Amino acid sequence: MAMMDTDLQCDVLIVGGGLVGGPLACALAAHGVSVAVVDREAPETALAPAFDGRASAVALGPQRVLAGCGLWPAIAPLAAPIREIRVSDGASPLFLHYDHRVLGSDPFGWIVENRAIRQALSRRLPALPLARVLAPASIQALRREAGGVVATLNDGRSIGAALVVAADGRGSPVRAGAGIGLTKWEYGQTAIVCTVAHEKPHGDVAQEHFLPSGPFAILPLPGNRSSVVWTEKSALVPGIMAQDDAAFLAEMHERFGDFLGGLTLEGPRFAYPLSLQFAKAYTAPRLALVGDAAHGMHPVAGQGMNMGLRDVAALAEVLVQAKRLGLDLGNAAVLERYARWRRFDNLLMLGLTDAMVRLFSNDIAPVRLARDLGLAAVNRMPGLKKTFMRHAMGLVGELPRLMRGEAL
Ligand SMILES: Cc1cc2nc3c(=O)[nH]c(=O)nc-3n(C[C@H](O)[C@H](O)[C@H](O)COP(=O)(O)OP(=O)(O)OC[C@H]3O[C@@H](n4cnc5c(N)ncnc54)[C@H](O)[C@@H]3O)c2cc1C
Repeated sequence: MAMMDTDLQCDVLIVGGGLVGGPLACALAAHGVSVAVVDREAPETALAPAFDGRASAVALGPQRVLAGCGLWPAIAPLAAPIREIRVSDGASPLFLHYDHRVLGSDPFGWIVENRAIRQALSRRLPALPLARVLAPASIQALRREAGGVVATLNDGRSIGAALVVAADGRGSPVRAGAGIGLTKWEYGQTAIVCTVAHEKPHGDVAQEHFLPSGPFAILPLPGNRSSVVWTEKSALVPGIMAQDDAAFLAEMHERFGDFLGGLTLEGPRFAYPLSLQFAKAYTAPRLALVGDAAHGMHPVAGQGMNMGLRDVAALAEVLVQAKRLGLDLGNAAVLERYARWRRFDNLLMLGLTDAMVRLFSNDIAPVRLARDLGLAAVNRMPGLKKTFMRHAMGLVGELPRLMRGEAL
């Protein structure tokens, strides 16, 4: 790649230093690939409780990616293991029960507040000599040319790189600027997210109740606390969000049930409108898309970031290998290898989560009966249950090295 006359020169420019772009930067910089990360938010803004109240279910495979990026030691003390999963359908007594012991001693995964991941990133990235973080900053102009990429920031600084990675989320200005289209549809559902403290311990059990308006999930956090993801018809959400805390809590308690005793709200509530979207291409000359910039899914199965971390593992492996071979990191063949590895896998997960949303978010009696019988049947088939568990844990498919827990 030709050297350019810029203020900063690196191998890879990553736009978006969030839950996917941040780990990618750590993985690359720890393995000989220099990176610059540009994010529109200052790191301290992204750590504030009002920024993102979500917690993420991190499956075993993607947890290994966070470990391989050197982030897990800072996250682990703030993560709660998931040792059992219970799935129920409305008031139906039939439910699906998963116990981690069926597959061995590892938990299925962990629930981590997004802030804890951001906090680990804000410590790890500055400690890596090959990583530069430029935030808050935004890209004013981006030129992708035969010899490399040149970005101009809003403060006038310029960055030269062999490759630009769009990790700038669902709205991805970098994807839009490259003219990559989206296939997208709305679910007419919005996820209300909040954290609650409860009287009784959750016992490391994650619960998901399928209600006609959408799934209601209770995800264990450290201590007697849980993260709630309450999916509701979008039209009803402004009214629910406008309620005072007591009325909101009372309405939530009806769905939550009494099994964990009394509830108190911790911190603010957040509302996320839900849609499915996927980019029509994962790469363009000197550009690769990762995470939500490439694919956005319904949180019913808690897989969005998990799939993003699979993207990280695959792209990091491809780029680190190319660097060791002395190849141009923006080379079309290098990028094509990444796209082929990830596109089909992500489309499969998008299809599965979409089917789950459609199957469970309705109250038509024959559909309800069929899915309840289906849940009960799967519950009695240990072989099929194990297969589902291994999929949800991110242990199936052509796994990149980081997902297998191996060094790059
Ligand atoms: C309610 C809910 C619950 C979820 N639960 C789970 C779960 O349990 N498990 C799971 O795996 N996934 C879950 N997800 C999905 C998960 O949150 C996303 O997949 C994940 O956040 C994607 O990360 P990302 O880094 O690609 O994008 P984002 O998290 O959107 O980060 C994008 C980053 O880019 C920056 N940025 C944006 N625009 C610009 C710009 N123009 N210039 C510079 N920087 C920019 C932003 O500041 C941000 O830091 C959930 C989603 C929702 C809505």
